[in-house]
Amino acid sequence: MLIDRVQLDFVELPLLDPFETSVGMSTAKQTWLLTVHADGIAGYAESVADPDPHWNEETHATVYFAIKNHLLPRLWGRKISRPEDVADLFLPIRANFMAKATIEMAVWDWFARAKGLPLARLLGGEPFRTAIPVGVSIGIQPTIDDLLRAGDTFLRLGYRRLKVKIKPGLDVDRLALLREHVGPQVAIMADANSAYRLVDLPLLKALDDLNLMMLEQPLAHDDLIDHAALARSLRTPICLDESIRTPEDARKALDIQACRVINIKVGRVGGYAMARAIHDIAAKQGVPVWCGGMQETGIGRAHNLHLSTLANFRLPGDTSASNRYFAEDLVEPEFSLNPDGTLTVPDGPGIGVVPEPKRLAHYTSFHEEMTPQTPVVLVPHGIPTSF
Ligand code: MG
Repeated sequence: MLIDRVQLDFVELPLLDPFETSVGMSTAKQTWLLTVHADGIAGYAESVADPDPHWNEETHATVYFAIKNHLLPRLWGRKISRPEDVADLFLPIRANFMAKATIEMAVWDWFARAKGLPLARLLGGEPFRTAIPVGVSIGIQPTIDDLLRAGDTFLRLGYRRLKVKIKPGLDVDRLALLREHVGPQVAIMADANSAYRLVDLPLLKALDDLNLMMLEQPLAHDDLIDHAALARSLRTPICLDESIRTPEDARKALDIQACRVINIKVGRVGGYAMARAIHDIAAKQGVPVWCGGMQETGIGRAHNLHLSTLANFRLPGDTSASNRYFAEDLVEPEFSLNPDGTLTVPDGPGIGVVPEPKRLAHYTSFHEEMTPQTPVVLVPHGIPTSF
């Protein structure tokens, strides 16, 4: 593969309902949709960055900047013989995981399409996993009634587990009422997005009475040590999300028993090469992983489903149906929930879906084509940002 052109489309899809977490509120899904073109074949992926550096430090602007100035220049003119080469070529660039993943995932899609295989096969997924059990993530609701209603709605639709976003003051009491409302059999978990500190231990201990599947990322976004201390004091398993950015983070977290579950987001960790490495490290330790979500459009959603066919994805993911978030998805057909609470992994070549051209045009506000001749972005005073 010799990439001859990369297309970036900035897409904005309105959300059906605002989504609130402990770090902020969103009303629309904005993303960079990236298409790699080579030998007449296209590969697709999207960025999981947000507009603001609240969930992590990357933003739409930094992703654009890193892709154009630092990452694509490492690929132009290079013959890529296997998708794993991309992660190696990106190694000299530190962090910028979301930007790296956006390109790397599109290259994986390209290779799978070029070979006429579903991406799951190229990744080494289990062939019998043709549908993936999924859960749903419920943002912080305005009232308790709203939370209970949301729980009812999603359980009725067939979702396999409820994940509830929490923050201080909107946590134990709400979860206790939800547990009482839905009964002891329903799988419930909570995601704090780093809203607590170790001194909140007495409050977090109260969660142990609620039989939660796990508590996701209660402490700082870059912490492992305090999570290990917390894990020693809680019966509820700790799951790490934000803290696991690299395979080394996963190794260290498991070495010190900072978590018993890992949420893998391929877009957060720099792409499939790294996601698989984290998956394998966890598998070796007998620690299950599941696939997180960033309210992806159908393109990212398809990628998540293919990733989830790997053997150690043993818990329902956050990859819900298109209509969980959007009135209209970018892809056609959209992803719908099967009656058994699963989403079907598309079985065509690559990720098995493409952006529907009319919808893509409708939701795109900025479009750029990059080639080996594209100049770098200059910051004020003409300072070059790539050498
Ligand atoms: Mg999370």
